[in-house]
Amino acid sequence: MQNKNEWIRKLGEQVEILVAEPMKNHTTFRIGGPADALALPKTPEEVAEVVHFCHEHAQPYYVLGNGSNLLVSDEGYRGLVLQLYRNFNDIQVNGETITVQSGAMLAAVARTAYQTGLTGLEFASGIPGTIGGAVVMNAGAYGGEMKNVLKEVTVLTKEGEVLVIPAKALELGYRTSVIPKNGWIVLGAVLQLKKGDQEQILARMEELKEQRITKQPLDLPSAGSTFKRPEGYFAGKLIMDAGLRGFTVGGAQVSEKHCGFVVNRGNATAADVWKLICEVKRRVKEMTGVELEPEVKLLGDFPQR
Ligand SMILES: Cc1cc2nc3c(=O)[nH]c(=O)nc-3n(C[C@H](O)[C@H](O)[C@H](O)COP(=O)(O)OP(=O)(O)OC[C@H]3O[C@@H](n4cnc5c(N)ncnc54)[C@H](O)[C@@H]3O)c2cc1C
Repeated sequence: MQNKNEWIRKLGEQVEILVAEPMKNHTTFRIGGPADALALPKTPEEVAEVVHFCHEHAQPYYVLGNGSNLLVSDEGYRGLVLQLYRNFNDIQVNGETITVQSGAMLAAVARTAYQTGLTGLEFASGIPGTIGGAVVMNAGAYGGEMKNVLKEVTVLTKEGEVLVIPAKALELGYRTSVIPKNGWIVLGAVLQLKKGDQEQILARMEELKEQRITKQPLDLPSAGSTFKRPEGYFAGKLIMDAGLRGFTVGGAQVSEKHCGFVVNRGNATAADVWKLICEVKRRVKEMTGVELEPEVKLLGDFPQR
């Protein structure tokens, strides 16, 4: 492997690169040490160029959307973070379908759907992620999920091929898909919606927004629900019943407003959050027998617990 600065400098001649970029600037947790490099490609060709370059120079890479489901370690990431966000936000409506680039925010796509009288995406209007992250996670809320509206995605394979994959082949399940396993990068998606009543669409979006404001700790940085919903239970209720409301490690806390959220009280480290997650898991298992599984993705090194 060659000198770190050398490969970053070389790649920087072709694509916009931020060097030693603090990941806390790119995660909704507002936590995370530096990535060696953060690439901001502007076109699918540049994405392919970055991937090809990383393979050629034996550098690991990680694809980032809005970082709203991500905990990055305090030491950061030894490799390249490829961010598909602001430069990939084109949204086109064609009849009842919306063709969208992977960096577009769900809120913007849901707003476009409403403005063009299309229904089906109201559930996603308050999820602070990109289309790419939402497809990978099969994001869902209030009875809706991406699986219900996704027609197909365009992906870049590890080998540099661009493929159009029908939604049925993505194995979309509860907060999972086959995309990470296959090492695919989502470049865009086509959503299949239906003609609806604009007033009703807006009313539903407003209703869901109100529910989020009332129930979720939106005033503090977090990554949303920390744990997946265990079959037959609610993670937040199990955590509350285990007496862990407000449980704190350093600057990380089980939200007092919604026990399913871990919040950053202002100066939390990734180590604080991870310790807290592990302790919550341990105590909930001890008290209820239920095994909680983190929904939040980890990037960088975290101790096994
Ligand atoms: C306040 C709050 C509320 C939330 N509410 C909800 C909710 O109601 N429902 C819900 O499901 N989630 C919720 N979340 C979690 C999060 O917003 C979703 O999981 C979202 O889909 C993540 O999108 P992202 O762009 O931020 O992805 P990131 O967090 O950046 O990435 C998530 C995963 O997707 C991968 N990824 C991202 N983009 C691509 C791409 N283009 N190609 C390949 N892989 C990619 C990443 O590598 C990572 O594995 C909430 C989060 C917060 C902070």
